[in-house]
Amino acid sequence: MKFVRIFFFLLLFTAAFAEINLEAAPRKSIHSIIYSGRRWVNLNDVARYYGMKIYIKGNDVYLYSRYYVAKFNTKKRAGSFNGVNLYWFFSPVKYKNVYYLSIDDFLYTLDPLLRPRSLKGKMVRTIMIDAGHGGKDTGAIGANKKKEKDITLAIALKLRRKLIKLGYSVRLTRGGDTFPSLEQRVSLWKNSRPKPDLFISIHCNAAANRKVSGVETFAATPLNVPSTGDTKLNKTVSGSNAFSRNNNLLAYYVQRAMAKNLPYAADRGVKHARFYVIRNVSCPAVLIETGFVSNWAECTRLSSNVYQEQVANSILRGILNYAAQVR
Ligand SMILES: [Zn+2]
Repeated sequence: MKFVRIFFFLLLFTAAFAEINLEAAPRKSIHSIIYSGRRWVNLNDVARYYGMKIYIKGNDVYLYSRYYVAKFNTKKRAGSFNGVNLYWFFSPVKYKNVYYLSIDDFLYTLDPLLRPRSLKGKMVRTIMIDAGHGGKDTGAIGANKKKEKDITLAIALKLRRKLIKLGYSVRLTRGGDTFPSLEQRVSLWKNSRPKPDLFISIHCNAAANRKVSGVETFAATPLNVPSTGDTKLNKTVSGSNAFSRNNNLLAYYVQRAMAKNLPYAADRGVKHARFYVIRNVSCPAVLIETGFVSNWAECTRLSSNVYQEQVANSILRGILNYAAQVR
């Protein structure tokens, strides 16, 4: 089991270093405590482990080095990594004047971001693109009456063309205006030969408040931690697929590329939710909210060919950055 093994390596430092590629890391131990029924790692030890420093300003807690800055906040879960917004599973806690980070944030998010080369996973060759909604399911209806299902399909087809040009093999859950159910989408993944190495679900957002706009990227919530939208654990729902470290890194790269490259798109961050498709495919997976169709300006942009190309290019950039790490 992945979780146990990494945990064991990082905290106890057995001889089997090579297995998770720690050769460049200093051999220092990371202590942990059990607090409020959860394991937390000592942030001073984490900082030392990566050769980073800690800086505190009010409720903000920064872990930084020359190349990286991870931002946490003791009162809210919103933070960032190298300027890209993301939501941690928990705020760090302070105990006897030392800050502690949840083991889940450490193992599933922080460590993959700081040591992407340590990721296990298959080389990316085949990619499945899932255009959200379709057929009788229009998805959200935009401010300009454009339907989400048409925008997601247009972006999916553009992304497919770009990936094929680069030599990737691409599968679609739908290539036209059809309505595969969520279960059917997952079955399509399972029945594809070879099985796709990545699953990219494309959606548009909508909100009652028409001023809200921006992009967000979701990875599946691992077991035993709350989704971004929840304050409490939902113990009745099963966790993510077995690729949380990969999911989070992929989500980060996609979100970074969109936030950097899309003009006017607000960075709403990497988030976690237990969406059916990304939870049930057995490969690294993300669900991308490419913008709010409920916002007039963003909907107008999302309806344009040029902007759809830019969105597809950004997602492509995120995928390529991820693929470069898993070889
Ligand atoms: Zn949708």
